[in-house]
Amino acid sequence: LLTGQVEFLKGVVAMDGLPPDDRMEVCFAGRSNVGKSSLINALTGRKALARASNTPGRTQEINYFTVSDSHYLVDLPGYGFANAPVPVVEKWQRLLKQYLSGRATLRRAFVLIDHRHGIKAVDDEIMTVLDKSAVTFQVVLTKEDKVKAKDRPVILEQVRKALSKHPAAYPELIITSSEKGDGIPTLRSIIANLE
Ligand code: GDP
Repeated sequence: LLTGQVEFLKGVVAMDGLPPDDRMEVCFAGRSNVGKSSLINALTGRKALARASNTPGRTQEINYFTVSDSHYLVDLPGYGFANAPVPVVEKWQRLLKQYLSGRATLRRAFVLIDHRHGIKAVDDEIMTVLDKSAVTFQVVLTKEDKVKAKDRPVILEQVRKALSKHPAAYPELIITSSEKGDGIPTLRSIIANLE
């Protein structure tokens, strides 16, 4: 599915700019720099695709991609960046919450977590929003190639423990490296098999 036609559709800055809810969609959320663009590029096999979302001005937008007319793939703005002005942060937080709690066709949210860092307070906040709106979310651990083998079990334990407090969490973790390609086929097939 994802290696077929994937095209950038539009950047959305307010709820009334969302495209018609005529098909299922999945979204990707994560802290800034978690590796979201790299993951979307790896998933779609299109190097420049998510760069569209990372260009200045687009980083605060909800970026929509069409996947062969049957799905939307939605790239949410990276959260948790320290240097943005407060009004900017508040505006996208509001939009993010509105989107996550008000999009009926949203089938699954993928919450990206840097495998080296585990779940942070800001990730936990997003997960709580998803719990409240009953949107099933699944954690995608990124940059697996950067984690030392000895650190893995401790981080995985922290992640599993944090997820056990979230009723909307899908228990299976997806461990990925966009650099090496690990976990990418798994994530592709999870998306393709959603109903
Ligand atoms: P975004 O801000 O979440 O879109 O993050 P990017 O995709 O731009 O990635 C942030 C940084 O992490 C970049 O320097 C990437 O090259 C690097 N990166 C992303 N994914 C991986 C990965 O799987 N392995 C490694 N080693 N680096 C990665």
